[in-house]
Amino acid sequence: MQWETVIGLEIHAQLATKTKIFSGSDTTFGAEPNTQASLIDLAMPGTLPVLNQEAVRMACMFGLAVDAEIAERNIFARKNYFYPDLPKGYQTSQMDDPIVGKGHMDITLDDGTVKRIGITRAHLEEDAGKSLHEDFNGMTGIDLNRAGTPLLEIVSEPDIRSAKEAVAYVRAIHALVRYLGICDGNMAEGSLRCDCNVSIRPKGQTEFGTRTEIKNVNSFRFIERAINTEIQRQIEILEDGGSITQETRLYDPAKNETRSMRSKEEANDYRYFPCPDLLPVVIERDFLTELKTQLPELPQEKRQRFQAEFGLSEYDAHVLAASREMADYFEQTQQVCGDAKLAANWVMGELSSLLNKDNLEIAESPVSAAQLGGMLRRILDNTISGKIAKTVLEAMAAGEGDADQVIEKRGLKQVTDSGAIDALIDEMLAANADQVEQYRSADENRRGKMFGFFVGQAMRASKGKANPQQVNELLKKKLED
Ligand code: ADP
Ligand code: MG
Repeated sequence: MQWETVIGLEIHAQLATKTKIFSGSDTTFGAEPNTQASLIDLAMPGTLPVLNQEAVRMACMFGLAVDAEIAERNIFARKNYFYPDLPKGYQTSQMDDPIVGKGHMDITLDDGTVKRIGITRAHLEEDAGKSLHEDFNGMTGIDLNRAGTPLLEIVSEPDIRSAKEAVAYVRAIHALVRYLGICDGNMAEGSLRCDCNVSIRPKGQTEFGTRTEIKNVNSFRFIERAINTEIQRQIEILEDGGSITQETRLYDPAKNETRSMRSKEEANDYRYFPCPDLLPVVIERDFLTELKTQLPELPQEKRQRFQAEFGLSEYDAHVLAASREMADYFEQTQQVCGDAKLAANWVMGELSSLLNKDNLEIAESPVSAAQLGGMLRRILDNTISGKIAKTVLEAMAAGEGDADQVIEKRGLKQVTDSGAIDALIDEMLAANADQVEQYRSADENRRGKMFGFFVGQAMRASKGKANPQQVNELLKKKLED
């Protein structure tokens, strides 16, 4: 049997507001437990929520960026359930009237084709606190610092057809919220987490199969693995003649398996109702028009501009626009050196592998864009060769200063004085008289190979500093004589 996978994702993005969605408490991650929980977050009787306008503005930015309808009136609702980390006994969320309606997100697949994924809605809600099971001799502590942190829950249509597509979609959302500056995207700290709804159906069937939901997956790699193991599990059940139970599951990365958390029968009945403490939020159209003019350049626009303005390939534009930091770094480098293609090659090539080696983000690069651009200028004006430049880059990364300082200090300046190169080649040819003889009597094919040997010898004799182009030209002349 041929199976088709159907996936819909619910992404929770923590909005990067200074304070919480309904109180003035700080939202900074990692503080001492319960130092950032106000009376409102603790749900003391008599306290009332005040909506953080910044959270509304950020949700609207997201809505505009995914071409969504933004509701004129959106309404907060109470989602009722009992849990120790939820002091109010309900989560303030949105149900029937979310702030952001239908929109879409385009993703690029491995083969380069673009696929449009529908966004069903995105709504505002508050995060809950956290139970801490460590360090309490069998007891559990509650940290309410996170209670009331604003979240934007972004719900996709069941348009995704593989784990790879799911990852591409989450990456695209991740890049977008970071471009917009509305979420720091730090998945390890839980700033962006993903619930994966997965079902399978016989290929060709139009109805969806029964789905399971894998809760709170918090890395790109785990999303791919969790979905793939869940697909496999469902295939095995159905091929054995069984049926899928609609349920919530948890992914265990250590065992690479999903486990049942609760079934639909055990699911909570949340008894949603409009929150009487909060007025409906009316979003004026003028506000949206104004906000639209303030949106930064988005990934898609940047990719197109990189191709049009710099003549980059689609692939290069895609890689460089993957994050705002990467794009800015590239643009700054190209501004300094004036050669976009050279800048693109070095940012994507040598610089990226240097960063990968130490597991660094581009924002943490030990070599600044100005430094890299400065070094590329020295390639362009023939002060150093591309090969020597790799040494210079490493030296800059090790803190030896700018390219010019490194070149000066280490004596890496390229030899372009043709007299010097001439002498060096003569000396090298004299030392390899036998090979020169062989070369002169060899056929075309063999000559080609031997020529490379002579270039190598000459470059070595110059410690890599001779201008390779001049070496080539001079050698050709001398060997033909
Ligand atoms: P609920 O109200 O139970 O949360 P929704 O209808 O809102 O369910 O869907 C939640 C998510 O599940 C959405 O992202 C949606 O695309 C996805 N989804 C719905 N049905 C399926 C299915 N059969 N297979 C995979 N994903 C699905
Ligand atoms: Mg849901």
